[in-house]
Amino acid sequence: MPIAAHTVDSTANTTHNPPLDDQLGFAPIPADITIMSDAKLTVPDATFAPETLSPADRRVRALNLGAVIVPFLALILAIVLSWGSAINWTQLIIYAVMVELTAIGVTIGFHRLFTHRAFATTSTIRYIFGALGSMAVQGTVYEWCATHRKHHQHSDDHHDPHSPHAHSDGVWGEGLIGFFKGFYHSHMGWLFAGRMKGSGKYIKDIAADPVCAAINRQFRFWVIAGLLLPAIAGGLIEQSWHGAWMGLLWGGFVRILTVHHVTWSVNSVCHLWGTSPFRTHDESRNNPVIGVLTLGEGWHNNHHAFPNSARHGLHWWQIDISYIVIRSLELVGLAWNIKLPDKERIAAKRRRNAHTPST
Ligand SMILES: [Zn+2]
Ligand SMILES: [Zn+2]
Repeated sequence: MPIAAHTVDSTANTTHNPPLDDQLGFAPIPADITIMSDAKLTVPDATFAPETLSPADRRVRALNLGAVIVPFLALILAIVLSWGSAINWTQLIIYAVMVELTAIGVTIGFHRLFTHRAFATTSTIRYIFGALGSMAVQGTVYEWCATHRKHHQHSDDHHDPHSPHAHSDGVWGEGLIGFFKGFYHSHMGWLFAGRMKGSGKYIKDIAADPVCAAINRQFRFWVIAGLLLPAIAGGLIEQSWHGAWMGLLWGGFVRILTVHHVTWSVNSVCHLWGTSPFRTHDESRNNPVIGVLTLGEGWHNNHHAFPNSARHGLHWWQIDISYIVIRSLELVGLAWNIKLPDKERIAAKRRRNAHTPST
């Protein structure tokens, strides 16, 4: 999954402006994009051009570097300041709540709702998920969705933005050095590869959606709000500036670091280690550890096999907190049109030698 700022070519064809879909509140996905199915996208390629870095490329690279380094330095500072003192339960709870809320903004909002349109919900809830996803500092909703749609189109081929197996000039190579190069690139190195050119064509439907357009414009506001909220909470609960400062550190910066690396693990770990019970065009894997940590996103082979499914954990034992939240919204009438693969489709895609556990 993508992360941090890639300046997206904002030439998405908003003048096309097709009529809004009554059910989804979205403009229809352009006819030349088949993200709703498990077929690869057929749009022309958008490529990275790291060798010709423009001033804008360098600015994006510097922003991404800051988004990676600042939370890491904040972690060191947080550990130093907390060293030797008892666990501060207030700060721990603020940290955990912020991790879960912003992670859900990414997994349910940016990923399943906006990128894959796996279910429909009200405009207010879409706005809330968009705001929470923006607080994760993984780039704007346009940037995130464009990069991720390209990942599905080119999974593990030479145009995949973040494959541990291949890059634009070939493969990462054999042996330990090739492995570590591929792992680093897929985990975070791709953030420094330059802008993704021509990405506007991946998000024509998203750019035509007023809620997404607003969230995209307000990205910086929500990033700052995601830092101020835990600071205010810490200050009010502990009735001190120290509480506010520690809230900013743990619930703000360290929380960003946590959600970054957990999200990045889907791109790196889940294309290297795990099982692949379904036939896909890539090296995607189901990884139980990442599955739990990412609120269900680590059932990644399932996801590549059925990209528009709202449910990634397809068996009861494949814990998928994000789907539980979506299903809960459905039960109270706040989510509908939930897309799930039927049994026949699941059976047809399963590898012949794959074990078929009971659901
Ligand atoms: Zn993937
Ligand atoms: Zn996806």
